[in-house]
This record gives sequence, structure tokens and C-alpha cells, in this order.
Amino acid sequence: MSENETVERLATVKAAIARAESDYDRKPGFVTLIAVSKTFPAEDIAPALAAGQRVFGENYVQETKAKWPELRERYPDVELHLIGPLQSNKAKEAVELFDVIQTLDRPSLAEALAKEIAKQGRTPRLFVQVNTGEEPQKGGVAPREVDAFIETCRTQYGLTIEGLMCIPPAEDPPSPHFALLATIAKRNGLNGLSMGMSADFDAAIQMGATHVRVGSAIFGTRAKAVKP
Ligand SMILES: *Cc1c(COP(=O)(O)O)cnc(C)c1O
Repeated sequence: MSENETVERLATVKAAIARAESDYDRKPGFVTLIAVSKTFPAEDIAPALAAGQRVFGENYVQETKAKWPELRERYPDVELHLIGPLQSNKAKEAVELFDVIQTLDRPSLAEALAKEIAKQGRTPRLFVQVNTGEEPQKGGVAPREVDAFIETCRTQYGLTIEGLMCIPPAEDPPSPHFALLATIAKRNGLNGLSMGMSADFDAAIQMGATHVRVGSAIFGTRAKAVKP
């Protein structure tokens, strides 16, 4: 995709978010756009940065380490969200690299992150991923286990949880999953709701999303979700 195309598509997505905020009675700016740049090289991300976008999502620690340090030097106010699964042995690098980690989903990872946060004195904001569709191949805590897991994060590991994140099953209508996530967040006193991607962010905003994660609608079709 050409630079101009990226900038145009970014503007289109931002306009659609602004329209949804207005349609569903949210304040302007209520929804944060996370531009998902996984698999796209730094030169494809640069036009979005030049156009003012500052919040980005990445799925892989190694890819982020290769791409972002240099971009961050040019744009120190960038905010990076980890939205892919995190292995506990990469907790150290994740705490170094990311401002927000959205895929906290098990006690062993909570423990590893708490340890690194204490060691590094760096405190990434945390979202708990919920596997709303209970898909075996997907990360995330099962809905019936979330309340206990959040409690464990808070009391046992002293972590502050900002919100919840979900990726509904591709074959399901997404809105019931978004509604379930909103319900779980509310009963746990959480404000953050990371839900909605290129195909369904309008529905997610309707159901209360505070963060939408939009990739292909901005950067174009990914060749393949390759692991670097
Ligand atoms: C890749 C990805 C996205 C972006 O998906 P698009 O359909 O390209 O907008 C959002 N969230 C997660 C967790 C992803 O892995």
C-alpha cells in the first residue's frame, strides 16, 4: 500500500470511530484507536506516525524488538500495546518494550510480570484477556474463571488491572461476546474494554469499547500472520 493510502485509510477509520462515538453517545475521544502494525515493516508504519497516530499494537515480542526502538527514538510519545500471546519467559522483554500488555491470562504470567515490574521499576498497564468463546486454541481466561483470576492478580501479585480484552470467534456474531466482556468488566470494577477489530469496531463501540484494535483497515491485508 502507498504512503498516501495508509494515511487516507487511517483518516477513514478515525472518522468512523468519531461517528460511532457520536451515534452511541460517547464523548469525543472516548475510544482509543490502537493501530495494529504486526507483520508490517517500519517503513509502512512511518506514514501513520507522521500523520499523528501514536498508539500501536503488536503481537510478537521479537518483531517489536526489531522494529520499534528506532521508531520510538523519533517518536518518544508512542504507546505500544502487546496484543498477542505472551510466554512467561518473555515477560522481561515485554515489560521493557510495552506500555500496555493486553494478554494477561494465567497466574504464572501474572507472577512473572509482577517480578519484572518490581525489578525494572517500569509499570506497563495491564488488561486481562478473556476467552469469551472458550476456544481451545485461543489464549484468555474462561469467563467463569475471570473474577477469581482478577482477584488473584490484585491480592496475590499486587497488580493493577485496567481492563479486559477479547477476540470473539471468527464465525460468531461478535456483539454477544462484546456484551459478555462488558458485563464481566462492570462486576469487577474495570473501566477498560479492548474489543473490536477492522470488521466489527463499530459494534464494539456500541457495546462500550474503550480501545479498538484495527489493523488491516489501516495497513492493508497482511500477507500472512507469520511469526518472525
Ligand atoms: C491482528 C489482530 C488485530 C487486528 O485485526 P484486523 O482484522 O486486521 O483489524 C486485532 N487484535 C488482535 C488480538 C490481533 O491479533
